[in-house]
Amino acid sequence: MHTTDGSGRTDGAEGAPSGGPHEAKHARDAGRVGRRLRRALGQAIADFALIAEGDRILCAVSGGKDSFALHELLVELRARAPVTFEVVAVNVDQGQPGFPADVLPRYMAERGHDFVAVKEDTYSIVTDKVPQGKTYCSLCSRLRRAILYRVARERGCNKVALGHHRDDVLATLLMNLVFAGQLKAMPPKLVCDEGDIVVIRPLVYCAEADLAAFAAERAFPIIPCRLCGSQPNSERRAVGELLEALEARQPGARTNMLAALRNVRPSHLLDAGLWRALGLSVAADDPAPAPLPPPEAAAAPVLVPAARLAAGAPGAVVPATEDGGR
Ligand code: SF4
Repeated sequence: MHTTDGSGRTDGAEGAPSGGPHEAKHARDAGRVGRRLRRALGQAIADFALIAEGDRILCAVSGGKDSFALHELLVELRARAPVTFEVVAVNVDQGQPGFPADVLPRYMAERGHDFVAVKEDTYSIVTDKVPQGKTYCSLCSRLRRAILYRVARERGCNKVALGHHRDDVLATLLMNLVFAGQLKAMPPKLVCDEGDIVVIRPLVYCAEADLAAFAAERAFPIIPCRLCGSQPNSERRAVGELLEALEARQPGARTNMLAALRNVRPSHLLDAGLWRALGLSVAADDPAPAPLPPPEAAAAPVLVPAARLAAGAPGAVVPATEDGGR
């Protein structure tokens, strides 16, 4: 079932199969996806100083494509990063019916990864507390997050890495905009209430489609995500459909929305408190916007040179080698 060993494999186009032009093209495309993901991951890490020397990172692994990809990318990054950090994969078996508890331990053991499996039946709590017909996700994820914090403390981890990606960020932005009256998305980095654990989201620039392609390429043994029987709530479904429709009408819409989140003009928003905090008294005339890069280029931001990073983001990891430009 699993065709890669996950240890030192490169996913470039070198060694393309001899099975004809179609397979060779597939291999090249697969290599591009890996490169795009590594660059986007590296850019997010650099932009927000997500990883620092000596970090011990708990990587939450659910068995879904996103967290498998996050773990693989972090493990690969660790091998070539100029700073030393550790990655501990942790799965919480929440007692959902049919959860295949053997899949992740076997996968991690076969590759020699540092892995912890935790079993806590939050499923019974959720099904007991959440009224019939309501989605479980809010309570379920809060309980899971608390378990992850506890395991992080037990294992000496100072950071918890979660697999939320660009499309999660955009869906959250639209949810807050349309249903909550707030202009906010999802922080790439936040500190827990107790102040001792920092949550990081290294995939915030990564497109979900790329993560799906990467997961297929690496043949991760994906665990189905709806074992709990919960369905996305109607608001989340609505923003998902809206994003699909926008993308169909304007290819690259998601890429542009991500670019917008990285290019905020506070003076052109109507938050008086923000104006005061920034000492604004009047907005300057808006210069003509620079043309946006093509979607592919925008999805794969150029790495910040190490010298600039050193000046602006102490402690950040720069994956400087980035496959030697393959
Ligand atoms: S989909 Fe299921 S497992 Fe995931 S957060 Fe929602 S209730 Fe929990």
